[in-house]
Amino acid sequence: MRMSLGKASVHARKQKSLAKCHTLPHAETVEPRVRFNSAMQTPVLVLNASYEPINICGARRALVLVLKGVAKTEEEQGAILHAARVRMPMPSVIRLLEYRRIPHQTRALSRKNILLRDRNTCQYCGVVLHSSELTLDHVQPRSRGGLSTWENLVAACHGCNRRKGNQLLHELQDMKLMREPRPFSLHTSRHIMRMIGHSDQKWRKYLYY
Ligand SMILES: [Zn+2]
Repeated sequence: MRMSLGKASVHARKQKSLAKCHTLPHAETVEPRVRFNSAMQTPVLVLNASYEPINICGARRALVLVLKGVAKTEEEQGAILHAARVRMPMPSVIRLLEYRRIPHQTRALSRKNILLRDRNTCQYCGVVLHSSELTLDHVQPRSRGGLSTWENLVAACHGCNRRKGNQLLHELQDMKLMREPRPFSLHTSRHIMRMIGHSDQKWRKYLYY
């Protein structure tokens, strides 16, 4: 398989590519349309120097990190990249050579992140829906003093949101939360990494499953 690395990526500044790398992509953003794009966009697991999984990025970005000497390939995809003066195996797992302190609790409280945390699942009836079909429910209603916090906001389908209305959970017989809402944590990130990486056996030993 022949492919070349875009000039723009190679010249991208180290900090910029690292910063981008620290955002977890949605599973649906990885679209294997063309074989070339497919190999370049294959999700790559990023480990900290300590082997702790910290993120996922596209193969193209992972290659840039390896070429710049910021990271080292720990596992290979199987495909080989052929560029002007480079011939290297496409990575499946890379590891940063220098340890980076990653703040795990700094994710912004947003609709997108709440839905990501709740895995697009209504926290009352368990139905999985597209983001556009989900609402955010205040567990303790705003009209009764409920705040917009990680602990008080959950994903809910329209049906459950209507049914719950202005009531508190203990006032309802048949509605309860599937789990206690918590801030976006390392645990959540790791769960998302597992979902994205379930097809790649080489990720398993780093994600403990
Ligand atoms: Zn529901």
